[in-house]
Order: sequence, then C-alpha cells, then structure tokens
Amino acid sequence: MNIPFALPLIDQPVIDEVLDCLTNTGWLTSGPKVRALEAEVERLCGAPALCVNSWTSGAMLMLRWFGVGPGDEVIVPAYTYSATALCAMNIGARVVMVDVGEDFCIDVAAVRRAITPRTKAILPVDLGGWPCDYDALMALVAEPEVRALFRAATERQEQLGRMLVLADAAHSIGAAYKGRPSGQLADATVFSMHSVKNVTTGEGGAVCLHLPEAFDMAAELQFLRYFALNGQTKSAFEKNQAGGWRYDIVAQGLKVNMPDVCAAIGLAQIRRYQAELLPERKAIFERYNRAFSAYSWAILPPYDDGGRVSSAHLYPLRLRGFTEQQRDALIQRVSERGVGVNVHYIPMPMLSLFRGLGYRMEDYPVARGLYENELSLPIYNGLTEEMVGYVVEVVREAVVFF
Ligand SMILES: *Cc1c(COP(=O)(O)O)cnc(C)c1O
Repeated sequence: MNIPFALPLIDQPVIDEVLDCLTNTGWLTSGPKVRALEAEVERLCGAPALCVNSWTSGAMLMLRWFGVGPGDEVIVPAYTYSATALCAMNIGARVVMVDVGEDFCIDVAAVRRAITPRTKAILPVDLGGWPCDYDALMALVAEPEVRALFRAATERQEQLGRMLVLADAAHSIGAAYKGRPSGQLADATVFSMHSVKNVTTGEGGAVCLHLPEAFDMAAELQFLRYFALNGQTKSAFEKNQAGGWRYDIVAQGLKVNMPDVCAAIGLAQIRRYQAELLPERKAIFERYNRAFSAYSWAILPPYDDGGRVSSAHLYPLRLRGFTEQQRDALIQRVSERGVGVNVHYIPMPMLSLFRGLGYRMEDYPVARGLYENELSLPIYNGLTEEMVGYVVEVVREAVVFF
C-alpha cells in the first residue's frame, strides 16, 4: 500500500465550485468567491475575516499594520515552521526565539523572560492544531509591569497600549480553547490555507480580528482590505462595476489579496468543514490514539483536555526513549513500506540561516527533546480506516527493531 503523507481534498464539490468560478462568474482575482469564503471563516470563527494569499503575507500584513519594523523585537517559539520567524525578519524586525513546553506550545514563562522594551509582538503557534495557553499569554501582556515596558511608537500601538498577540493558527482552524474558537483567542489570528492545511485554497490564508474595544473593528478590517491591495481603495472587481473607475491609494500597502479561483477551492471545503471534514480528521486522530495507547513506547499528542480541543491538523506521535538517529532509521523503514511520514519540526536554530544568525540549539532543550523523537503520521480527509490500520501496523512493526 502506498500512503502519501498529505493530500489536498479535490472532490466533486471542489471541482464544481472552481468550474462555477471559471465558467459562470468568469472572475479570477478577488471577487465574489473571496467574499463568500471570508463569510464562511467569520461564521466558523466568530470574528471578522480577511482572505490573503498566504499565512506568511497575512502575518507580515498584521505586523506592518501594527507598525512593527526595524529596531523592534518579535517573540516566537523555536519549534515551528520557519515562516513564523521570517514574516518578522522580512519587515526588518529582530526575532527572539523562546523554548516550548512538552505540549509543543510556546512556554509562557520563557516569553516573560524574553520581553524587553523593544518587544512589539508575540507569535504563539498552535502546533498541530493544539491551541496555546491564550489566557496566560493575554494575562501576561496585560500585566501592569509588562505594559510599563511597552514603548508605543505608532497610533495603533498607542491604542493597544501593550504588546500585540498575533496567533500563528496556520494549523488550528476549527480548534477551540475554553469553548471559544480559534480566531477569537488572540488580538489577531492568521490561518494558512496552503495545500497541506485543513482547509486549502492551494496557497492562501485568512486573518481574523479580535481587537479590544478601543478599536473600531469594522474600520480596521476596511483598512486591512485596502492595505492588502497596495493600499488601494477599490478592488479590481469594484472598479469593474459601471462607473467605478476612480480609486485612491491611502497607505503604503502590500499586494497580498487572494484570487477568486483559489477561494473557490477553500469555499467548497469550509462549507463542509465543521459538519463533515473536521469530524473525519478527528476520527482518524482518535483511531491512532486508540491503537497506540496500548504501547508504552508511544507518547500520544495533545488532543482534548476538556478545555482545549485540537483541530487534528497533525498527528505528532512521539517515540519514548528514541534518539534522533533511531527515529531517522525508523522513518527509513516506514517509508520503505510506502507510508509517508514527516517530522514537525526541525527547530529553527538547527537550520543554516538561523544558526548563521547566532541562534543556538542548546538554548532550547525542550524543543530539542521534542524534535528527536517526533514522527508525524498521515492525517487527512480521504484517508480510509484501512489505510490508518496499515499505518499503525507499519509503525508498530518498525518500532520492534529498536
Ligand atoms: C504552513 C505554516 C505557515 C506558513 O503558511 P503559508 O500559508 O505557507 O505562508 C506558518 N506557520 C506554520 C506553523 C505553518 O505550518
């Protein structure tokens, strides 16, 4: 049996929606499909949403919106995909990496120690779809002593009066924390709709706003709509309406809007996400949990503790006592039997760019421990019970050799 690690869902409803875009609306760039997708994200997350062309560009957009740039520091976990750091580096900010906890999420005590008067934003990552401890993070940035350290340099920084908590929710659409959906847990949340993510548009992302009362959310969303379109006050769709030619450029924006033809793919998925696609993912996660809970070598990934519920984006299994070399050899064995697996993640300080910049792996011992014995198994819509059974059997048989 050959089981790829990840496969995007391209079924008849997806094909129909894309065909509708190509043959009926005939509109390719941002237009009615993007608006419909934004409405679905809003409905799912209970927060106003803006679609963009990737998580990375959405995060850059929000950091720029808050006025983050050269001289500023942004705190991120060392254990994540590199985009979490690159979004800040590419707008000139300095990245401060901190360690994570055993549940893969940013260590709030480590964040506290990393805060300086230059800190402008914190980017927690909901790894695998497991939400970080947002109550603790939001309480930390609101502490009077922490607020006192914050040096507001722009109007929006003045308005917030503290560090921005910008959630890297690339994995966590549909996850929940104490009954609240991902999208409402931080000041702003960015989802990814890249091909391997729970809801995909090929490449894409969405930003959800959940700002304190001092902000006019509708006005901020309107501004971000312009800001994601070169600062232009009218989209091509709006300009295309009769008499709609005149526009203004009101800010030095980015060009990161989502095309309609991409939105159509995600639209056909997100409509079925809560009722069908997410439960299907969770069923796979639970099947793995049931199978591996019988073995003392298996450390099951965080999933549902009553307060937090994962969106089951990844199945990051850990192999108790395994060294990095043993884990790598296990991957080799499993791959030879046709099962695609992955490691989430190689901590950033182990990668050339970050090592060259002076980040040192010895500063992140928990991240190293997670990395050494982690093994992500296939989990996606369309993975059958039989395929899950085969993955379990292959992993079980391979572990015996160590
Ligand atoms: C996929 C991913 C991103 C980047 O998403 P893009 O849409 O490809 O920019 C960022 N952070 C994490 C944790 C991811 O997994």
